[in-house]
Amino acid sequence: MQIFACPVCARPLYFHNQGCVCGAGVAFDPLAQGFGPLGHACRNRQTLGCNWQAPVDGAPCLSCAMTRTIPDLRMPRNIGYWVATELAKRWVLAGLIRLGWFGPDDPGPAPVFDMIAEETGIELVMVSMGHDAGVIIINVSEADPARLADRQSRFGELHRSMIGHMRHEIAHFLHWRLMQDPGFADGFRALFGDERVDYAAAMQAHYANPMTSDASHITSYATAHPHEDWAETAAHLLHHVDIVDSFDAAGLRATADGLIGGDAYATHDTAALLRRSGTITLALNHINRSMGLQDLYPFALPPRVKEKLAFAHRHVRRATNPAIPATEPFQPTKL
Ligand SMILES: [Zn+2]
Ligand SMILES: [Zn+2]
Ligand SMILES: [Zn+2]
Repeated sequence: MQIFACPVCARPLYFHNQGCVCGAGVAFDPLAQGFGPLGHACRNRQTLGCNWQAPVDGAPCLSCAMTRTIPDLRMPRNIGYWVATELAKRWVLAGLIRLGWFGPDDPGPAPVFDMIAEETGIELVMVSMGHDAGVIIINVSEADPARLADRQSRFGELHRSMIGHMRHEIAHFLHWRLMQDPGFADGFRALFGDERVDYAAAMQAHYANPMTSDASHITSYATAHPHEDWAETAAHLLHHVDIVDSFDAAGLRATADGLIGGDAYATHDTAALLRRSGTITLALNHINRSMGLQDLYPFALPPRVKEKLAFAHRHVRRATNPAIPATEPFQPTKL
Protein backbone atom coordinates (compact mmCIF):
# COMPACT_ATOMS: atom_id res chain seq x y z
CA MET A 1 0.00 0.00 0.00
CA GLN A 2 1.18 3.47 -0.83
CA ILE A 3 1.52 6.26 1.74
CA PHE A 4 -0.46 9.26 0.52
CA ALA A 5 -0.27 13.04 0.81
CA CYS A 6 -2.77 15.44 2.35
CA PRO A 7 -4.40 17.48 -0.46
CA VAL A 8 -4.11 20.62 1.70
CA CYS A 9 -0.69 20.49 3.39
CA ALA A 10 1.00 17.48 1.70
CA ARG A 11 1.80 15.78 5.03
CA PRO A 12 1.71 11.97 4.84
CA LEU A 13 -1.66 10.26 5.11
CA TYR A 14 -2.18 6.56 5.73
CA PHE A 15 -4.83 4.45 4.04
CA HIS A 16 -7.22 4.48 7.01
CA ASN A 17 -7.01 8.25 7.77
CA GLN A 18 -10.17 10.36 7.76
CA GLY A 19 -8.39 13.60 8.49
CA CYS A 20 -4.97 15.20 8.57
CA VAL A 21 -3.16 16.78 11.52
CA CYS A 22 -3.59 20.12 9.68
CA GLY A 23 -7.31 19.84 10.39
CA ALA A 24 -8.46 18.98 6.86
CA GLY A 25 -11.08 16.26 6.47
CA VAL A 26 -10.07 13.97 3.63
CA ALA A 27 -11.55 11.13 1.60
CA PHE A 28 -9.79 8.46 -0.46
CA ASP A 29 -10.56 8.16 -4.15
CA PRO A 30 -9.96 4.49 -5.00
CA LEU A 31 -9.87 5.15 -8.76
CA ALA A 32 -7.32 7.97 -8.50
CA GLN A 33 -5.54 6.11 -5.64
CA GLY A 34 -5.13 9.24 -3.58
CA PHE A 35 -6.75 11.48 -0.99
CA GLY A 36 -8.83 14.50 -1.95
CA PRO A 37 -10.88 16.99 0.04
CA LEU A 38 -13.93 15.53 1.76
CA GLY A 39 -16.35 16.17 -1.15
CA HIS A 40 -18.94 13.40 -1.39
CA ALA A 41 -18.25 11.19 1.61
CA CYS A 42 -19.33 7.54 1.68
CA ARG A 43 -22.57 7.16 3.60
CA ASN A 44 -20.80 4.80 6.01
CA ARG A 45 -18.20 7.40 7.03
CA GLN A 46 -19.69 7.96 10.50
CA THR A 47 -20.95 4.46 11.26
CA LEU A 48 -18.06 2.42 9.83
CA GLY A 49 -15.24 4.92 9.62
CA CYS A 50 -15.22 4.36 5.85
CA ASN A 51 -12.98 7.10 4.44
CA TRP A 52 -13.66 6.54 0.73
CA GLN A 53 -15.33 9.01 -1.59
CA ALA A 54 -18.79 8.25 -2.95
CA PRO A 55 -20.03 9.18 -6.43
CA VAL A 56 -22.73 11.44 -4.93
CA ASP A 57 -23.68 12.58 -1.43
CA GLY A 58 -25.40 9.94 0.69
CA ALA A 59 -24.32 7.07 -1.59
CA PRO A 60 -22.09 4.16 -0.62
CA CYS A 61 -18.53 4.12 -1.95
CA LEU A 62 -17.34 1.51 -4.45
CA SER A 63 -16.40 -0.87 -1.62
CA CYS A 64 -19.45 -0.39 0.65
CA ALA A 65 -21.71 -0.81 -2.41
CA MET A 66 -20.45 -4.42 -2.68
CA THR A 67 -21.74 -5.32 0.80
CA ARG A 68 -25.20 -6.84 0.52
CA THR A 69 -25.66 -8.26 4.01
CA ILE A 70 -24.42 -6.65 7.20
CA PRO A 71 -23.88 -8.39 10.56
CA ASP A 72 -26.54 -8.44 13.26
CA LEU A 73 -25.92 -5.13 15.03
CA ARG A 74 -28.08 -6.04 18.03
CA MET A 75 -24.81 -7.44 19.40
CA PRO A 76 -22.84 -4.21 19.92
CA ARG A 77 -19.44 -5.81 19.44
CA ASN A 78 -20.37 -6.86 15.91
CA ILE A 79 -20.05 -3.20 14.89
CA GLY A 80 -16.32 -3.20 15.72
CA TYR A 81 -15.81 -6.51 13.89
CA TRP A 82 -17.66 -5.16 10.86
CA VAL A 83 -15.56 -1.95 10.88
CA ALA A 84 -12.32 -3.98 10.91
CA THR A 85 -13.62 -6.33 8.20
CA GLU A 86 -14.63 -3.49 5.88
CA LEU A 87 -11.19 -1.88 6.36
CA ALA A 88 -9.51 -5.14 5.29
CA LYS A 89 -11.88 -5.32 2.32
CA ARG A 90 -11.08 -1.75 1.23
CA TRP A 91 -7.36 -2.44 1.56
CA VAL A 92 -7.54 -5.50 -0.67
CA LEU A 93 -9.92 -3.87 -3.18
CA ALA A 94 -7.64 -0.82 -3.51
CA GLY A 95 -4.86 -3.14 -4.67
CA LEU A 96 -7.12 -5.03 -7.07
CA ILE A 97 -8.30 -1.75 -8.61
CA ARG A 98 -4.64 -1.01 -9.40
CA LEU A 99 -4.47 -4.38 -11.14
CA GLY A 100 -7.45 -3.46 -13.32
CA TRP A 101 -10.38 -5.01 -11.46
CA PHE A 102 -13.70 -3.42 -10.49
CA GLY A 103 -12.97 0.05 -11.88
CA PRO A 104 -14.86 1.78 -14.71
CA ASP A 105 -12.82 -0.05 -17.39
CA ASP A 106 -13.70 -3.48 -16.04
CA PRO A 107 -16.72 -4.80 -17.96
CA GLY A 108 -17.36 -7.72 -15.60
CA PRO A 109 -19.24 -7.87 -12.32
CA ALA A 110 -17.77 -7.06 -8.90
CA PRO A 111 -18.25 -9.45 -5.98
CA VAL A 112 -21.19 -9.19 -3.61
CA PHE A 113 -20.38 -9.60 0.10
CA ASP A 114 -22.42 -11.14 2.88
CA MET A 115 -20.79 -9.97 6.13
CA ILE A 116 -22.01 -12.39 8.80
CA ALA A 117 -21.27 -12.51 12.54
CA GLU A 118 -21.29 -15.71 14.59
CA GLU A 119 -23.17 -14.04 17.43
CA THR A 120 -26.61 -12.79 16.52
CA GLY A 121 -29.22 -11.28 18.79
CA ILE A 122 -30.87 -14.71 18.91
CA GLU A 123 -28.28 -17.45 18.70
CA LEU A 124 -24.73 -18.48 17.87
CA VAL A 125 -24.36 -19.46 14.22
CA MET A 126 -21.58 -21.22 12.37
CA VAL A 127 -20.34 -19.11 9.48
CA SER A 128 -18.46 -20.83 6.66
CA MET A 129 -16.49 -18.38 4.59
CA GLY A 130 -16.61 -19.03 0.88
CA HIS A 131 -17.46 -17.92 -2.63
CA ASP A 132 -20.30 -19.09 -4.83
CA ALA A 133 -21.16 -17.60 -8.24
CA GLY A 134 -20.16 -14.04 -7.40
CA VAL A 135 -21.20 -13.97 -3.73
CA ILE A 136 -18.58 -14.00 -0.97
CA ILE A 137 -19.42 -14.87 2.64
CA ILE A 138 -17.09 -13.41 5.27
CA ASN A 139 -17.18 -14.25 8.97
CA VAL A 140 -16.68 -10.81 10.58
CA SER A 141 -16.29 -12.42 14.01
CA GLU A 142 -12.74 -13.38 13.03
CA ALA A 143 -11.90 -9.70 13.42
CA ASP A 144 -11.91 -10.47 17.16
CA PRO A 145 -8.19 -10.94 17.99
CA ALA A 146 -8.82 -13.60 20.67
CA ARG A 147 -11.01 -15.68 18.38
CA LEU A 148 -8.54 -15.28 15.53
CA ALA A 149 -5.63 -16.38 17.74
CA ASP A 150 -7.62 -19.43 18.82
CA ARG A 151 -8.26 -20.43 15.19
CA GLN A 152 -4.70 -19.70 14.10
CA SER A 153 -3.57 -22.23 16.63
CA ARG A 154 -6.43 -24.75 16.18
CA PHE A 155 -6.09 -24.89 12.38
CA GLY A 156 -2.30 -24.56 12.40
CA GLU A 157 -2.66 -21.40 10.31
CA LEU A 158 -0.49 -18.89 12.14
CA HIS A 159 -0.92 -16.42 9.32
CA ARG A 160 -4.70 -16.50 9.24
CA SER A 161 -5.90 -12.87 9.05
CA MET A 162 -8.83 -10.85 7.77
CA ILE A 163 -6.68 -9.48 4.91
CA GLY A 164 -5.78 -13.09 4.08
CA HIS A 165 -9.44 -14.17 4.12
CA MET A 166 -10.34 -11.29 1.81
CA ARG A 167 -7.59 -12.14 -0.66
CA HIS A 168 -8.43 -15.85 -0.56
CA GLU A 169 -12.18 -15.44 -1.11
CA ILE A 170 -11.79 -12.73 -3.76
CA ALA A 171 -9.29 -15.02 -5.50
CA HIS A 172 -12.11 -17.60 -5.86
CA PHE A 173 -14.23 -14.83 -7.38
CA LEU A 174 -11.41 -13.87 -9.78
CA HIS A 175 -11.13 -17.52 -10.83
CA TRP A 176 -14.84 -17.55 -11.59
CA ARG A 177 -14.34 -14.51 -13.82
CA LEU A 178 -11.06 -15.67 -15.34
CA MET A 179 -12.66 -18.90 -16.53
CA GLN A 180 -14.17 -16.63 -19.21
CA ASP A 181 -10.77 -15.77 -20.63
CA PRO A 182 -9.66 -17.87 -23.60
CA GLY A 183 -6.98 -20.32 -22.60
CA PHE A 184 -7.29 -19.74 -18.86
CA ALA A 185 -8.98 -23.03 -18.04
CA ASP A 186 -6.43 -25.13 -19.96
CA GLY A 187 -3.45 -23.31 -18.47
CA PHE A 188 -5.00 -23.53 -15.01
CA ARG A 189 -5.70 -27.26 -15.19
CA ALA A 190 -2.20 -28.02 -16.47
CA LEU A 191 -0.69 -26.45 -13.35
CA PHE A 192 -3.27 -26.76 -10.58
CA GLY A 193 -5.24 -29.84 -11.67
CA ASP A 194 -8.85 -30.28 -12.70
CA GLU A 195 -11.14 -28.14 -10.56
CA ARG A 196 -14.16 -30.21 -11.66
CA VAL A 197 -13.29 -33.04 -9.25
CA ASP A 198 -15.82 -33.47 -6.43
CA TYR A 199 -15.29 -30.55 -4.04
CA ALA A 200 -17.24 -31.87 -1.05
CA ALA A 201 -15.47 -35.24 -1.16
CA ALA A 202 -12.07 -33.54 -1.49
CA MET A 203 -12.79 -31.33 1.53
CA GLN A 204 -13.91 -34.30 3.59
CA ALA A 205 -10.74 -36.17 2.70
CA HIS A 206 -8.61 -33.11 3.52
CA TYR A 207 -10.10 -32.60 6.95
CA ALA A 208 -9.92 -36.33 7.71
CA ASN A 209 -6.23 -36.42 6.80
CA PRO A 210 -4.71 -32.96 6.24
CA MET A 211 -1.57 -33.01 4.10
CA THR A 212 1.24 -30.62 4.85
CA SER A 213 2.33 -28.17 2.20
CA ASP A 214 4.75 -29.80 -0.22
CA ALA A 215 6.94 -29.00 -3.22
CA SER A 216 3.95 -28.01 -5.32
CA HIS A 217 1.52 -26.47 -2.80
CA ILE A 218 2.06 -23.23 -0.93
CA THR A 219 0.03 -24.26 2.15
CA SER A 220 -1.60 -27.33 3.61
CA TYR A 221 -5.04 -26.03 2.63
CA ALA A 222 -3.85 -25.66 -0.97
CA THR A 223 -3.49 -29.45 -1.16
CA ALA A 224 -7.22 -29.93 -0.56
CA HIS A 225 -8.58 -29.15 -4.04
CA PRO A 226 -7.46 -27.22 -7.18
CA HIS A 227 -9.90 -24.40 -6.29
CA GLU A 228 -8.23 -23.98 -2.89
CA ASP A 229 -4.78 -24.28 -4.42
CA TRP A 230 -5.64 -21.38 -6.74
CA ALA A 231 -7.18 -19.28 -3.93
CA GLU A 232 -4.18 -19.81 -1.63
CA THR A 233 -1.66 -19.19 -4.44
CA ALA A 234 -3.38 -16.09 -5.83
CA ALA A 235 -3.81 -14.70 -2.28
CA HIS A 236 -0.08 -15.16 -1.67
CA LEU A 237 0.76 -13.49 -4.98
CA LEU A 238 -1.30 -10.49 -3.82
CA HIS A 239 0.55 -10.59 -0.46
CA HIS A 240 3.91 -10.40 -2.28
CA VAL A 241 2.83 -7.49 -4.47
CA ASP A 242 1.54 -5.59 -1.42
CA ILE A 243 4.64 -6.33 0.68
CA VAL A 244 6.92 -4.90 -2.04
CA ASP A 245 4.61 -1.93 -2.68
CA SER A 246 4.33 -1.11 1.06
CA PHE A 247 8.07 -1.52 1.62
CA ASP A 248 8.89 0.88 -1.22
CA ALA A 249 6.19 3.34 -0.12
CA ALA A 250 7.75 3.44 3.35
CA GLY A 251 10.98 4.66 1.73
CA LEU A 252 13.00 1.59 2.70
CA ARG A 253 15.67 0.08 0.47
CA ALA A 254 16.58 -3.55 -0.01
CA THR A 255 19.59 -4.85 -1.90
CA ALA A 256 19.82 -7.52 -4.57
CA ASP A 257 16.94 -6.81 -6.87
CA GLY A 258 16.01 -4.80 -9.89
CA LEU A 259 12.70 -3.32 -8.88
CA ILE A 260 13.74 -0.35 -6.75
CA GLY A 261 11.61 2.62 -7.68
CA GLY A 262 9.35 0.47 -9.86
CA ASP A 263 5.64 -0.12 -9.44
CA ALA A 264 5.04 -3.51 -7.83
CA TYR A 265 1.49 -3.51 -9.23
CA ALA A 266 2.66 -2.89 -12.81
CA THR A 267 5.63 -5.22 -13.08
CA HIS A 268 5.31 -8.22 -15.39
CA ASP A 269 8.39 -9.91 -13.98
CA THR A 270 7.22 -12.44 -11.38
CA ALA A 271 10.74 -13.75 -10.73
CA ALA A 272 12.02 -10.23 -9.94
CA LEU A 273 8.96 -9.52 -7.77
CA LEU A 274 9.47 -12.73 -5.75
CA ARG A 275 13.21 -12.14 -5.46
CA ARG A 276 12.52 -8.71 -4.04
CA SER A 277 9.75 -9.83 -1.68
CA GLY A 278 12.06 -12.67 -0.60
CA THR A 279 14.81 -10.20 0.33
CA ILE A 280 12.30 -7.97 2.11
CA THR A 281 10.54 -10.72 4.06
CA LEU A 282 13.82 -12.25 5.25
CA ALA A 283 14.76 -8.83 6.65
CA LEU A 284 11.33 -8.21 8.18
CA ASN A 285 11.25 -11.69 9.72
CA HIS A 286 14.53 -10.78 11.42
CA ILE A 287 13.10 -7.47 12.66
CA ASN A 288 9.93 -9.16 13.97
CA ARG A 289 12.11 -11.54 16.02
CA SER A 290 13.61 -8.48 17.76
CA MET A 291 10.12 -7.90 19.21
CA GLY A 292 9.41 -11.56 19.94
CA LEU A 293 6.76 -11.63 17.20
CA GLN A 294 6.03 -14.28 14.61
CA ASP A 295 7.80 -14.05 11.29
CA LEU A 296 6.03 -11.75 8.85
CA TYR A 297 6.19 -14.38 6.10
CA PRO A 298 7.54 -17.82 6.98
CA PHE A 299 6.67 -19.62 3.74
CA ALA A 300 9.25 -21.18 1.42
CA LEU A 301 8.54 -21.07 -2.30
CA PRO A 302 9.65 -24.22 -4.19
CA PRO A 303 10.02 -23.92 -8.00
CA ARG A 304 6.64 -25.50 -8.79
CA VAL A 305 4.90 -23.06 -6.41
CA LYS A 306 6.73 -20.17 -8.10
CA GLU A 307 5.39 -21.40 -11.45
CA LYS A 308 1.87 -21.29 -10.04
CA LEU A 309 2.49 -17.83 -8.58
CA ALA A 310 3.67 -16.65 -12.02
CA PHE A 311 0.49 -18.02 -13.61
CA ALA A 312 -1.65 -16.22 -11.01
CA HIS A 313 0.42 -13.05 -11.52
CA ARG A 314 -0.14 -13.13 -15.28
CA HIS A 315 -3.89 -13.45 -14.88
CA VAL A 316 -4.61 -11.13 -11.95
CA ARG A 317 -2.64 -8.36 -13.69
CA ARG A 318 -5.68 -7.57 -15.76
CA ALA A 319 -4.98 -3.90 -16.50
CA THR A 320 -1.50 -4.42 -17.89
CA ASN A 321 -1.83 -7.81 -19.54
CA PRO A 322 -2.30 -7.16 -23.27
CA ALA A 323 -3.34 -10.79 -23.83
CA ILE A 324 -6.63 -10.10 -22.09
CA PRO A 325 -9.18 -8.12 -24.07
CA ALA A 326 -10.51 -5.55 -21.60
CA THR A 327 -13.92 -5.36 -23.20
CA GLU A 328 -14.71 -9.06 -23.48
CA PRO A 329 -18.36 -9.43 -22.42
CA PHE A 330 -18.77 -11.47 -19.25
CA GLN A 331 -20.80 -14.68 -19.45
CA PRO A 332 -20.60 -16.61 -16.21
CA THR A 333 -20.36 -20.35 -16.41
CA LYS A 334 -22.04 -22.46 -13.79
CA LEU A 335 -19.22 -24.27 -12.04
ZN1 LIG B 1 -2.96 18.26 5.91
ZN1 LIG C 1 -17.62 3.18 2.07
ZN1 LIG D 1 -11.34 -21.26 -0.41
